Amino acid sequence: MLSNLQPQAPDSILKLIEEFKADTRQGKIDLGVGVYKDPQGVTPVMRAVKAAEQRIWETQTTKAYTGLAGEPDYRDAMARMVLKDVPADRLASLATVGGTGAIRQALELARLANPGVTVHVSNPTWPNHLSIMKFMGLPFVEYRYFDAATRGVDFDGLKADIARAGKGDIVLLHGCCHNPTGANLSMDQWNEVAAILGKSGAIPLIDLAYQGFGDGLEEDAAATRMIAGRLPEVLIAASCSKNFGIYRERTGILFALAENTAARDLAQGSMAYLNRQTYSFPPDHGARIVSTILSDNALRADWAAELEEVRGTMLGLRAQLASELRDLSGSGRFDFVERHRGMFSRLGATPEQVQRLKSDAAIYMVGDSRLNIAGLNRHTVPILARAIIDAGI
Ligand code: PMP
Repeated sequence: MLSNLQPQAPDSILKLIEEFKADTRQGKIDLGVGVYKDPQGVTPVMRAVKAAEQRIWETQTTKAYTGLAGEPDYRDAMARMVLKDVPADRLASLATVGGTGAIRQALELARLANPGVTVHVSNPTWPNHLSIMKFMGLPFVEYRYFDAATRGVDFDGLKADIARAGKGDIVLLHGCCHNPTGANLSMDQWNEVAAILGKSGAIPLIDLAYQGFGDGLEEDAAATRMIAGRLPEVLIAASCSKNFGIYRERTGILFALAENTAARDLAQGSMAYLNRQTYSFPPDHGARIVSTILSDNALRADWAAELEEVRGTMLGLRAQLASELRDLSGSGRFDFVERHRGMFSRLGATPEQVQRLKSDAAIYMVGDSRLNIAGLNRHTVPILARAIIDAGI
């Protein structure tokens, strides 16, 4: 039986990690994989996470099963963090295996509710969105997103394309810090998107994987909150991997905002059912870390402060890179680096130029020229800037 299996194409980012590891050149720079690294190149365990883990270790008396939908404390704390004003009578929630698990369960839920669903995704988007939908056999179409000339959002293209989504279709949106481009909508533009969806009855699925990495914890959730305040049905897949730095704990959550309480109850039941069919109970340790932090004023303040340091570090690197490139190019054509938000920016380089950065300068980024800003430090920024100019980008 097993010999009937087909070889699977390796994940391109994981392949890049292997290539980077095998490169013996001194001073090689990894801008590929999407994890935050501090200026020393370390992905740290946040102080509040350590403190919460200690508290859990000291006080936890059982590791018996939780609920199929996860612990209410975690789901309530996350609802407040993401939505602030929580419409509790309309909100269903489900603890999931990371943000990826939340996306998967959101798509499963959409298909259960509407077997004819089509998903509309940005071009480009996080490659896992596409591979999950392909694996599920879920039909999807792309909407225009990235404007290669300005490296901003092609908003006219986006509007025209998402207006084609029909009632009951899903429009997958990145709530902030778009991956892979770093280009984001303004609040005015988000309002226009909400109006288009309100008119068509298409349902937004908001992927919120970087709350706190862009303009701040509240600012990064503003678009999600506005949409949740305006539309009758909204799905939100949030991840705690980045903002709590608990990548391997696999901590995420799916929210389904329903039109009324009866529909909320149906959604809640179906969501628990989906967890049951895939892995039964969701992981608890990461969720417990998050709820411990969010429910304790001191821990929460310390976590928020450290998250601000992380965000500030990335903004500082963006400003430095834009400034170096301004000096070297004698133009403002790379200023988009400073306008982009989150961990990533799409440079807009050709695959050949990306290859040249790798072969000539030992600088590794994803083939579509997505670079992880957090892979830099103030010493490597000038090296990257020089290499970008030398590669003819
Ligand atoms: N959505 C996007 C856009 C992401 O970049 C990521 C992480 N790379 C996720 C969701 C989910 O992350 P995780 O499953 O690790 O929580």
